[in-house]
Amino acid sequence: MERRARLAHVIFLIGLEGNAKMAETTIFTKIINHEIPSEIIYHDDLVTAFKDIAPKAEHHILIVTNKPIPTVSNVEPEDEAMLGHLFIVAKKIATDLGVKDSGYRLIVNCGPDGGQEVPHIHMHLLAGGKLGGLGFPQK
Ligand code: AMP
Repeated sequence: MERRARLAHVIFLIGLEGNAKMAETTIFTKIINHEIPSEIIYHDDLVTAFKDIAPKAEHHILIVTNKPIPTVSNVEPEDEAMLGHLFIVAKKIATDLGVKDSGYRLIVNCGPDGGQEVPHIHMHLLAGGKLGGLGFPQK
């Protein structure tokens, strides 16, 4: 494994471990609880959406489950309605942004190789102009 990838893997595992011990303390949980500042654009009982701090497109919104599940590999059947709700809220945000018909991209990164940095399930909504292609693994 390349050094950078190994480092990302270790950071992710530390995050997972920390998350399992103190599920309420992910950075996204702190945003949801207004303990750290963020531009929250939507909130309900199941999910919260806010602007990504390092946008990769003109519009870059994170839609986060209020329940701090670390990654898709940890989801259970009981989470189905909440996870489906991510798409309902994504459609609402896309509509509000005026990109419902022009198009947008929804991404859920999973684990170190998937590029997941924050171990708390979230969907990226990217929009604003034609987006670039999806990537092959880094060499
Ligand atoms: P991922 O790599 O899929 O785990 O995505 C994590 C995303 O969270 C990245 O796009 C970061 O830019 C974003 N992020 C990290 N910290 C914050 C923060 N405090 N407020 C908003 N977005 C954040």
